[in-house]
Amino acid sequence: MSAAVLTAAAAGRLGCPVCGRAAAVASAGRRCGRCGARLPATGRRPLGAVWAWLIAGVALYIPANLEPMLVTTTFGRDSASTIIGGALELFALGSYGVGVIVLVASVLIPVAKFLAIARLAAHASGRAPMRPHGALALYEVVEFIGRWSMIDVFVVAILAALVQMGFLASLTPGPAAAFFALSVAATMLSARAFDPRLIWDRAGVEHV
Ligand SMILES: [Zn+2]
Repeated sequence: MSAAVLTAAAAGRLGCPVCGRAAAVASAGRRCGRCGARLPATGRRPLGAVWAWLIAGVALYIPANLEPMLVTTTFGRDSASTIIGGALELFALGSYGVGVIVLVASVLIPVAKFLAIARLAAHASGRAPMRPHGALALYEVVEFIGRWSMIDVFVVAILAALVQMGFLASLTPGPAAAFFALSVAATMLSARAFDPRLIWDRAGVEHV
């Protein structure tokens, strides 16, 4: 069913994000007259920050995979392993469960997040439009992944505990751990910078 819909923006109103009270567009950025929450700006947040943080996240992800994640010292010998190398070593040792967790947290989740944010930004810029409900589903996945972004730090902690219990004399995180944490932070900022209202701007107002 299609019907012409009057949007709040067209009516010169905006809604309080906390209590829902409608306010005049002129009061954007000021306090809500009922609950006192800060009213949002009427304009959309631009995509520039989304792309900039995303590029930073991808750029930091490269050394995160090339530099050693763990440096282990066994009987006085140093051996360094990258994220993927470490996962392969875990598989070789028969620790399939931990190996899969490391691969999911360090490769699958970050790469999926890069692709999902790029896809959303491409949709919002009009370069590769997709169905708005599909874009919303993707946005919700990105939001959900965001909560689990630091799982890799947790994985390194588990790994450290497992290795310390084994035959290895010492274990220190390599430079990749810092690059990975910075990559995760940049990607989180990229997702945060995305304005979900952009998903609907291209949908028009007639499809409800
Ligand atoms: Zn309010």
